[in-house]
Amino acid sequence: MTAAYVGLGANLDGPRRQVLAALEELAQLPRTQLTARSSLYRSAPLGHLEQPEFINAVARLETALEPEALWAALQAIERAHGRERTFRDAPRTLDLDLLLYGEARIASPALTVPHPRLHERAFVLLPLTEIDPQAQIPGYGRAHTLLGRCAGQVIERLSS
Ligand code: ADP
Ligand code: MG
Repeated sequence: MTAAYVGLGANLDGPRRQVLAALEELAQLPRTQLTARSSLYRSAPLGHLEQPEFINAVARLETALEPEALWAALQAIERAHGRERTFRDAPRTLDLDLLLYGEARIASPALTVPHPRLHERAFVLLPLTEIDPQAQIPGYGRAHTLLGRCAGQVIERLSS
């Protein structure tokens, strides 16, 4: 079993409901247990700014799925939530990112782990450090330190 971390984000069609439902769906994945989940957070959009704010969370899984199989399962959940890919940083009903998979460093055409933008996103680093204060990002260092470099990103913790 490997500890894997998944970042969840949504800003369309009842984002809070989308994220809460996705957490339950992650818990149902085969050969996988949901072992921790962060609070929900509210964050301002980055990149494309003219869109609703996001609801974000991070989940920790213990899984026997290989990274590619886990990622395929995440994409299937995104699709089931009506995710459409239109343009970069577009609004979305559900975004599931494979943030970390144990200590693995993966660079295949479709899948990069650690997630290539994780280290610069407060909306990932803050919920990640909530569930694992000592989290390390292979190749980048301590999540807590990286979070300190995300000054100016607006993020607020909601209910737990
Ligand atoms: P983002 O999550 O950065 O806002 P998207 O969800 O639209 O962007 O994903 C863009 C691309 O990122 C996808 O086509 C996917 O192949 C790629 N990708 C690479 N590594 C990962 C990963 N670890 N988790 C999720 N998607 C990834
Ligand atoms: Mg994504």
